[in-house]
Amino acid sequence: MPDLTVIPATNAALPDAPVALQHWIGGVWLDSADGATSERRSPAHGVAVSVAAKGGRPEAEAAIAAARAAFDAGAWSRSSGKDRATLLLRVADLIDRDRAAIARHEVLESGKPITQAMAEIEGAADLWRYAAALARTMHGDSHNSLGPDMLGLVLKEPIGVVSLICPWNFPFLIVSQKLPFALAAGCTAVVKPSELTPGTTVMLGHLLEESGLPAGVCNIVLGYGDPVGAVLSTDPRVDMVSFTGSTGVGKRIAAAASATLKKVSLELGGKNPQVVFPDADLDQAADAIAFGVYFNAGECCNSGSRIIVHADVADALVAKVAALSRRVPFGDPLDPRTQVGAIISSEHLAKIDGYVRGAVAAGAHVALGGAALEVGGLGGQFYQPTIVTGVTPDMAIAREEVFGPVLSVLTFRTFDEAIALANSAAYGLSAGVWSRDVSTCLDFARKVQAGTVWTNTWMDGFAELPFGGFKESGQGRELGRYGLEEFLEVKTVQMRIGQTRGTWVA
Ligand code: NAD
Repeated sequence: MPDLTVIPATNAALPDAPVALQHWIGGVWLDSADGATSERRSPAHGVAVSVAAKGGRPEAEAAIAAARAAFDAGAWSRSSGKDRATLLLRVADLIDRDRAAIARHEVLESGKPITQAMAEIEGAADLWRYAAALARTMHGDSHNSLGPDMLGLVLKEPIGVVSLICPWNFPFLIVSQKLPFALAAGCTAVVKPSELTPGTTVMLGHLLEESGLPAGVCNIVLGYGDPVGAVLSTDPRVDMVSFTGSTGVGKRIAAAASATLKKVSLELGGKNPQVVFPDADLDQAADAIAFGVYFNAGECCNSGSRIIVHADVADALVAKVAALSRRVPFGDPLDPRTQVGAIISSEHLAKIDGYVRGAVAAGAHVALGGAALEVGGLGGQFYQPTIVTGVTPDMAIAREEVFGPVLSVLTFRTFDEAIALANSAAYGLSAGVWSRDVSTCLDFARKVQAGTVWTNTWMDGFAELPFGGFKESGQGRELGRYGLEEFLEVKTVQMRIGQTRGTWVA
């Protein structure tokens, strides 16, 4: 094993027994009608941490019925922005109050480091506050230039019942990129967390209940994509599906939702390039590259896993990233020193390793890592920080999401070649450019096909700025004002005022 920084098992107490998780439907906490459950074990520690009700078609349909009834009753959908904002702010305060417990459970189910889980929960609370501000400032338009006797109103109305289907990599953050915005708009919702990480969404449900959200406005159904996610994407009583997850599942959801022409908003995968020009500050770039690829063990849609570096500085950059990689603490996610935790499942770890093996078989070279990582005292699954050089654009490791702590390094000679390489993937989520020349950065930002471009930085995030993908990274946007607009329908009202209209029939 290479000389790495590994944090062994801490003495932090693990749960004596797994927590039981129920569905939240129409304001009532319920087990599945057939009593089915699924157990989640901590990917870092191997112990059972939750046993969740495993929903089926009946639970999904009951939740949709509850959301539909709540929407149509109007207590939430026709409430004032002020009342909605007041409730969303209360939820944010409750999240703050319980953040340590929520973060700890997030660690146990996902394997991410405790400090990053805390930052995730705090960032999520900020989204609830931001959405509260949007609830009070949302408005439509009026047109008084349509002639002397006409007034046009453009109303923004909640789209209706929304299905919010979430992945496992940032469970609490991603539900908070959707739910407060949907609620701010006046929608009612059915939330389906990933079957791998349902716990913190259930904790959020308890906070929503405590906040006084009317029954049925938000419902939570636990379970798998098939059948729960499939019902949430097809039922005619659902008006919109907002999905974050893999591109493959996103395409299936879009196809399923098309039968009833539901609006679909998709936040999908990425194969994000970081392009390093020869005049870049290589120390800054190397540090951001380490952050970009190892953050959340690389299980991140924004993973900056595809380095496209000018051939003249490639060796120097790789040496700097390798030196940093040896210093990044991998290990027990409950230890606050740990910066990279466990891989979500043993199946996923095998998939990550398969990409590295495949690249080597295709002629690439492993410059660091390239194997599973043993962490003393823990029975979970970890992967070494890994750098693969000599990657060419045709290799699977350069085109597909690895979703692990694995960096692929490609080289270029000219600006046009760099852009062509950056745009060669089917994805278009985010991209980075490193150069001291502002016009190089702007030229790159204009020509790269990506929803977000970071220049001389990586993965800063703000509630104010929209986030989403070009190409197969999705459609629609979350965050910012755009994140609210996704959940609004536009209604035009044309009013004759003053003079009555003339007669059409002579
Ligand atoms: P996934 O697509 O396997 O699952 C996501 C969710 O969809 C889960 O809740 C799952 O149960 C559900 N699902 C599965 N099959 C379904 C079906 N047929 N119908 C309806 N729902 C179904 O994704 P994952 O493995 O949980 O998450 C990782 C993926 O998410 C990566 O591709 C990552 O890039 C992407 N992601 C994107 C963003 C973004 O903002 N663009 C953010 C985080 C993660």
